[in-house]
Amino acid sequence: MLRKSLIVSLAIGAIILNSSYSIVSAADLPEVKILATGGTIAGSAPSNTQMTGYKAGALGVETLINAVPELKNIAVVSGEQISNIGSQDMTDDVWLKLAKRCNELLSDPDVKGIVITHGTDTLEETAYFLNLTVKSDKPVVLVGAMRPATAISADGPVNLLNAVKLAASPKAVGKGVLVALNDEINGARDVTKTNTSNVSTFKSPELGFLGYITDGEPYFYRETTRKHTKESEFDVDNLAKLPRVDIIYTHENDDRVLIDASVNAGAKGIIYAGSGMGSIHKDAEPGLVDAQKKGVVVVRSSRVGNGMVVANSEQYTKEHFLNGDTLNPQKARILLQLALTKTNDLNEIQRMFDEY
Ligand code: ASP
Repeated sequence: MLRKSLIVSLAIGAIILNSSYSIVSAADLPEVKILATGGTIAGSAPSNTQMTGYKAGALGVETLINAVPELKNIAVVSGEQISNIGSQDMTDDVWLKLAKRCNELLSDPDVKGIVITHGTDTLEETAYFLNLTVKSDKPVVLVGAMRPATAISADGPVNLLNAVKLAASPKAVGKGVLVALNDEINGARDVTKTNTSNVSTFKSPELGFLGYITDGEPYFYRETTRKHTKESEFDVDNLAKLPRVDIIYTHENDDRVLIDASVNAGAKGIIYAGSGMGSIHKDAEPGLVDAQKKGVVVVRSSRVGNGMVVANSEQYTKEHFLNGDTLNPQKARILLQLALTKTNDLNEIQRMFDEY
């Protein structure tokens, strides 16, 4: 009798399992593309205890996908190798290729989202560039890892699983380009790398991250008020190059030498990472004034890491220097590059800094 009921319940279990299997059959799962660019998430070290001094961008996208077979339960994933570099070597060429490929893929109604695997060093920059150049409200999620794929407790596989879950989630639609590491969701505009080695390196200082990913489920608590993706006026689909914009980082005993070098190198814009609220050293200022007179757009940013840079000085306003708001210097540089693809009008460029 007992045996008979066991067999019956096993049979019922098999039917339930079978039907739940058909609920998650590949035909019903969202399609997510993984674009791989390199980084520590694809890094390989000679031993599993080695956390630094490894080769970033050593493994291909198929290896990353195969290392997480659970991806098959949440999406139909397929990979493309865009580059395989340490992200400290990121270039405008790779960015343009990425943005164009994202726009192509997202125009396909079957593709529900994109995950980009990336080194963590410049991940925030690529995220903000795509935030301003991807023309879709479908999720685009950047993911990386702080420990190489060969490490004991590598963080790449779980980060990739979470990123695919996020890219496949309707909750992530319309939120702008997202960054998903260490169970947290950050927005592209405000996120920055804050620690050279810790897995909890990505933060949106003071303004805050957007949400958590817990047990593979995204939970959003806030969103950016700044324009992005579908609302963005920037379009790189027909561009082969971006204008040169340099960052000059101030310090005690600063002068105009690097500013002049930047102008001579053909910069169309300079981000001055000033002290405090974008303060400019008196010995550097004449260099910026001369650069501005030659048509180079000068934006004041700050090396502080938090807070706004606003029009706080009549002199700087008279000198036609623009204000970078809360963007860190590396993100102000991206917005100025894109702004310069559209206009040289200073009022227009300041408007962009106020809106994006
Ligand atoms: N240098 C590496 C890179 O950015 C670091 C990392 O991925 O964490 O590619």
